[in-house]
Amino acid sequence: QVDALNVCAVEVVADADARILPLASGLDDRLFEHDGQITKREVRALTLSALAPRKGELLWDIGAGSGSVAIEWMLADPAMRAVAVEASSERAQRIGRNAARFGVPGLVVVEGEAPDALRNLARPDVIFIGGGGSEPGVMDAAVAALSPGGRLVANAVTTEMEAVLIAHHARLGGSLIRIDVARAAPVGSMTGWRPAMPVTQWSWIK
Ligand code: SAH
Repeated sequence: QVDALNVCAVEVVADADARILPLASGLDDRLFEHDGQITKREVRALTLSALAPRKGELLWDIGAGSGSVAIEWMLADPAMRAVAVEASSERAQRIGRNAARFGVPGLVVVEGEAPDALRNLARPDVIFIGGGGSEPGVMDAAVAALSPGGRLVANAVTTEMEAVLIAHHARLGGSLIRIDVARAAPVGSMTGWRPAMPVTQWSWIK
């Protein structure tokens, strides 16, 4: 009785090679085009959790690399807004390609170096700093630009950036965590833990 109900029955069959995206953050690194400079899956999942997207908010992703963090932010809801700021033109172009592949063409890509590149951008609700944070003026510009009540999350892989985050935590509070991930990998005919570089993450509400 499909006709009488005025509905259309369509059989949906996924392509064998279709990319079916899970709803949770922390997508497989291989889904993104990247050159190795990408926030790895497990760290990215914790980063999105700390960024805590709420419908319609504007994110600045500073040092966006492949754009993976901004893209996962955009995927949370069609109303999300994000600006990816990236100093390398090659990577900035890659972010555009990744955004298109993931179906989030609304992601704005700004090719330029923070803090200068931040000057004319709309005030963000949330900021992620994944690169450039140890360069002069970047943390100060981010803290100043953030909306009152807004959230800032910054990741450090280098000791220089970690020192910056420890100093900010001491001065402004917030929370500081260290993320240590190890992956099982072959050791001869056996298996052992191969540790990733530890990531220090500072999260703060203005
Ligand atoms: N979160 C990213 C990885 C960031 S790697 C991802 O998941 O893909 C750090 C990036 O910061 C690099 O691409 C580097 O080019 C960029 N970067 C470093 N200093 C910067 C600055 N001052 N302004 C903008 N981008 C910067």
